Amino acid sequence: MTFEPVVESAIRDLVLANRILSRENVIDDFGHVSVRHPTDPGRYFLSRSRSPEIVTRDDIMEFALDGEPIAQNGRSMYAERAIHGAIYLARSDVQAVAHHHTRSVLPFTVADIPLKPVFHMGAVIGPHVPVWDSQPEFGDTNMLIDALPKGHSLARVLGNGRVVLLRGHGSVCAARCLRSVCFVSIYLKENADLLLKTLPFGSPKYLTPGEIEKTADMLLSPMPLARAWDYWLARAGFSGL
Ligand SMILES: [Zn+2]
Repeated sequence: MTFEPVVESAIRDLVLANRILSRENVIDDFGHVSVRHPTDPGRYFLSRSRSPEIVTRDDIMEFALDGEPIAQNGRSMYAERAIHGAIYLARSDVQAVAHHHTRSVLPFTVADIPLKPVFHMGAVIGPHVPVWDSQPEFGDTNMLIDALPKGHSLARVLGNGRVVLLRGHGSVCAARCLRSVCFVSIYLKENADLLLKTLPFGSPKYLTPGEIEKTADMLLSPMPLARAWDYWLARAGFSGL
């Protein structure tokens, strides 16, 4: 099935975002990234259940915000697509969502140490990164966000931010475009790596709230996003497209 050009362009960028987040070791065998339908805000695009490193155009499926496929055609689907629909429902400003289990982020989901920006590129994660815990509301579960009530609960904890951590599981990033969600996801990992290297030396000097706001506004503007996107494309093997 082919769509109008603006939709085809979004789908193409979604395939590239899958490859980029895989190449940058943010997403591995599990995890996923989606984009809201550019002309129908009640829908979004997400791959069928497949590792992002090998996602192609034909794997991309269209979903309603309740996670129901528009045309499943026998394809298997990600169990945790409730993450995407619930955030698109709660946040009209969000156009792209990514979920990953980046290893360097995981310590901050289980230890009482906040994940805050320690270098300028890390400012994009925002001044406060909350941790969502399924236990108080849902008790013992399989740890997956595999139903809408869990997705809604997660979206509430995300609030107006760009990042929410999942206790003992991973993280979710939400942003206003695919380039931004890749930027936030990649520098969430880089900031966590740097913080883990810094903590053994003592209490880090974090960016101030004012520095975080000004730096994030600058980094998530068109020029830095275009420059980073071109770099990631080259590293993922798509330079010159
Ligand atoms: Zn997960």
